[in-house]
Amino acid sequence: MMAGIPLVAGNWKMYKTPTEGAALARELRQRLDRPGGPDGVDVAVCPPFPALPAVGAALQGSGIALGAQDMHWEKEGAFTGAVSAGMLVDLGCRFVILGHSERRQHFGETDATVQRKVRAALAAGLTPIVCVGETVAERDAAQTLAVVTRQVGAALEGLPAADLGRLILAYEPVWAIGTGRTATPAQAREIHGALRRLLTERGGGPATRILYGGSVKAENAAALLREPEIDGALVGGASLVAEQFARIVEATRPA
Ligand code: PEP
Repeated sequence: MMAGIPLVAGNWKMYKTPTEGAALARELRQRLDRPGGPDGVDVAVCPPFPALPAVGAALQGSGIALGAQDMHWEKEGAFTGAVSAGMLVDLGCRFVILGHSERRQHFGETDATVQRKVRAALAAGLTPIVCVGETVAERDAAQTLAVVTRQVGAALEGLPAADLGRLILAYEPVWAIGTGRTATPAQAREIHGALRRLLTERGGGPATRILYGGSVKAENAAALLREPEIDGALVGGASLVAEQFARIVEATRPA
């Protein structure tokens, strides 16, 4: 069952200066803003930290929401280089990506740190987009379900059922991120169905949106998003090109 309005979120990764980011945001706004606000699909962009103020200003009054790509779990402290949930809220962020595979791979993110960040984000009123997904070696070893079950179990550990509808899951097979290889709709269907069952077992279920991420392009978005358990997309590379991102949003818009 579709969990409410679909969401298309752009992960800009370490691309776009504040000036470049504001220009991209203005172009997105031109392409996506409709009179009366967004129509049938939620849209968010997640620029790098330094671009958040400029992009937020460029999106002011539009239907496009702002998100960040990571945060620390503490409110403040001697954590050089880190950013807190409260700082993101103050900049107008509604979303924060947590546990992205690039954070896990390059920056020592673990299931335990994702768990702390999810709690801190919810406590601050942010909507976490919690990323899970298997590597190619794990898929080849038939470990996909075990891996995403472990990652989701850790991320949601101890959360009351009522909080499950306040977060978003993103299934992002690591082998599909930035590679041009996409999970087939059938592969995504299997894992999204399993994630939905995990949520249901925890007393949540239909209210939690489950996004797919991994080389989503305008060309493949419609087929993926037609799957009943795919409630939107987390888009990396294609979110850096306004025309492509806008086409993905259009492909997501319910008919
Ligand atoms: C991502 O960074 O979350 C992602 C899915 O990247 P891409 O769309 O480039 O594969």
